[in-house]
Amino acid sequence: MFCSKCGTKIEDNSNFCISCGSKVVSNIDSQNEIAITVHQMNNRNVESQGQEEKGSGGIFVVLGWIFFSISLLFFPIIFGPAASIMGVLARKKEKTQGTVLIVMGIVGMIVGMILGILVNVL
Ligand SMILES: [Zn+2]
Repeated sequence: MFCSKCGTKIEDNSNFCISCGSKVVSNIDSQNEIAITVHQMNNRNVESQGQEEKGSGGIFVVLGWIFFSISLLFFPIIFGPAASIMGVLARKKEKTQGTVLIVMGIVGMIVGMILGILVNVL
């Protein structure tokens, strides 16, 4: 075979070019390497996508519950709907949790407003 860098003829079993000293990789090996790398990259993509989808759904659920908690104490008219919006976003990934959050957002808004009125009256 020939060196891929300088084109000097080298022994088939040698690992380095005798002329330029660059590492010699046989075609079969390099093809395998590329195939393995592509395979690993694909695997990584699948894994990271799976994690992202799960993670983002979880974040919306957590945010939704935080907004719901805040809506009971402060600005229910803002944080109630915000919790519902988080529920809508979370619903794409976590259907049950998302639906619960949408309902809880509305409940948080109403309960928060009632509590606000009661605090003002008392
Ligand atoms: Zn060479």
